[in-house]
Amino acid sequence: MYWSNYHSHCIFCDGRSSMEDFVKFAIAKNVRKYGFSSHAPLPFLTKWTMLEDDFADYQTEFFRLKRKYENVIELYFGLEVDYIDNCSNVHNTFFEDKIFDYLIGSIHYLDKLSENNYWTIDGDFKEFDKGLNILYGGDIRLAVNRFYEISSLMIQNGGFDIVGHFDKISLHISHYKNFNPNDKWYENLVGEVLQLIKEKGMILEINTKSMTEKGITYPHRQFYSLIKQLDIPIMVNSDCHYPTNVIDGFEATYKDLKATGFKTLQQIVKGKWQGVEFNEKGLFEQ
Ligand SMILES: [Zn+2]
Ligand SMILES: [Zn+2]
Repeated sequence: MYWSNYHSHCIFCDGRSSMEDFVKFAIAKNVRKYGFSSHAPLPFLTKWTMLEDDFADYQTEFFRLKRKYENVIELYFGLEVDYIDNCSNVHNTFFEDKIFDYLIGSIHYLDKLSENNYWTIDGDFKEFDKGLNILYGGDIRLAVNRFYEISSLMIQNGGFDIVGHFDKISLHISHYKNFNPNDKWYENLVGEVLQLIKEKGMILEINTKSMTEKGITYPHRQFYSLIKQLDIPIMVNSDCHYPTNVIDGFEATYKDLKATGFKTLQQIVKGKWQGVEFNEKGLFEQ
């Protein structure tokens, strides 16, 4: 049995340690397939995305480690790419001459507050609440609709393999009393976007970043059976920013997924994505 993780960060973006530290921890935790997915550069400066000028070093260091550890772990080269409406996506010129094992498509920013200043749904709550009031007059339903509208645009736009932290907006909206994730309008909205993921043949990650602290995954457990019913290919990723978190929340999440009826998790096997069987102790050897 072994684990895998394709969503990870390191010092080339906002991860807290070197690429090699993450590799060493992954090996120690019995991770056999590990992918780097630093936050791709954006057309404007942030504190958490890779600088365009650092990309060559990111690539060089990756290939050095891939060779160095080839007998103990399979390393994969990726990026987590932001979709920002009318601003950033995988079709930007930056990606044109580059080759990746895979790309993750994620949303961290919604709409523009001012020039090069976008409202983030992944920052602290105060910032979230402020943007919600400025952009949507405090109307949660408007903001949620907009989030899933942008998610749909990202998926329609394509060009990447994995949908990252699908319902991340729920991180903060769940704190508002007038939001109920079981409301029909919300479930329908989520259902429509899941349907689109299925149609486009993308992989949906089950992101365990908030599992230990908050007991939740993205997408939330509430949608597991719908995802199963739609037969969407899934994988489990930790989205780790610290080496100690490479397999955080995996055991419980694998167990939940197994109990929901999922049989396989998507893995790169001999260069291709395919389903590999699993239980709560990890993935089965092939
Ligand atoms: Zn992310
Ligand atoms: Zn991430």
